Amino acid sequence: MKKRDFIKIGGLAAGALMVGCTSDASDGIVRKGSSVKKGSGVLKLSYRPYELQLKHVFTVATNSRTTTPVVLTSIEYDGVTGFGEASMPPYLGESHESVLNFLSKVDLGQFSDPFLMEDILEYIEGVMRGNYAAKASLDIALHDLTGKLLGQPWFRLWGLNPEKTPLTSFTIGIDTADVVREKTLEASAFKLLKIKLGRDNDREMIETVRSVTDVPIFVDVNQGWKDRNYALEMAHFLNENHAEFIEQPMPKEQIDDIAWLTERSPLPIVADEALQTVDQLLGMKGIYSGINIKLMKCGGMYAAWKMITLARQMGMKILIGCMTETSCAVSAAAQLSPLVDWADLDGNLLIANDIYEGMTVVDGRVTLPDRPGIGIVEI
Ligand code: MG
Repeated sequence: MKKRDFIKIGGLAAGALMVGCTSDASDGIVRKGSSVKKGSGVLKLSYRPYELQLKHVFTVATNSRTTTPVVLTSIEYDGVTGFGEASMPPYLGESHESVLNFLSKVDLGQFSDPFLMEDILEYIEGVMRGNYAAKASLDIALHDLTGKLLGQPWFRLWGLNPEKTPLTSFTIGIDTADVVREKTLEASAFKLLKIKLGRDNDREMIETVRSVTDVPIFVDVNQGWKDRNYALEMAHFLNENHAEFIEQPMPKEQIDDIAWLTERSPLPIVADEALQTVDQLLGMKGIYSGINIKLMKCGGMYAAWKMITLARQMGMKILIGCMTETSCAVSAAAQLSPLVDWADLDGNLLIANDIYEGMTVVDGRVTLPDRPGIGIVEI
């Protein structure tokens, strides 16, 4: 990616000198032990739309698609650049148009200290309601930038052990038995699979997967079941088939049915579509036993950290997930993964035109690169 391809939004005139760090002239990344000196920058935001090409047609209970629109952002300060990304799957209602419109209203040039993250993110939150993917793209870029200025990856700034990352699942969409068998065989490097259910072939999907592998599975119904008795019957069937949890079994509006199911199900019931932001989390108590946190839903790494902290206090299980995204947003989420029970961070592996290299999956496990910020490099 060429920086000139970004739409440049310059800041206001450089104001007071704030804390900065020396940067390595070759790549702009500050190394450990860099001396801290006064910078002269203001934050400069750039962004451009991009379309992800999916390797396979991706089918869930409610739709099929072959592309995902994203917007790639960057925030530059004092010669150092942090990268971010907004990914807009159709169900969240954001689009290239809405994200570009949101970003055009953002003036980061008023800030001359990227470490005042609380102030900057509060300003971004107030620009417009909603628009969480757009907000996440700025939050991620800001985290990447500040991590690079400090010369440290975020998992280390948070004090997390990179050896404690979870296994990640690889997603198998709803399809015919032949295709499911083939995709399951292709995913043999993974020690966990996420199986999409919710159409009329639930048992066939599971039986096909089980004819090929006995690895544990996550199940995501994407609101596809309408009848709670069927859902409970499936929960027992899935428990016998070594599932770990069921995600969003019924429409989020069927609150009483979901609470009924959670009380009786042998497997944890995880909220995804029902839960977007941290302020909705307390309302999940007694309805779900776990939550799926995604940066694009909640607005970024800062909000995700708050959600994890609160969800733990509420005794809930935590899954960290993603959309189809480049390695940028997936690597940002991966920084938090040592804190969670389960990870579903395969969004970058489902696309054919990634432009970053970042977190990897080694022996089925989320593996964090020892690079500053969110740990990505352009490829
Ligand atoms: Mg889901």
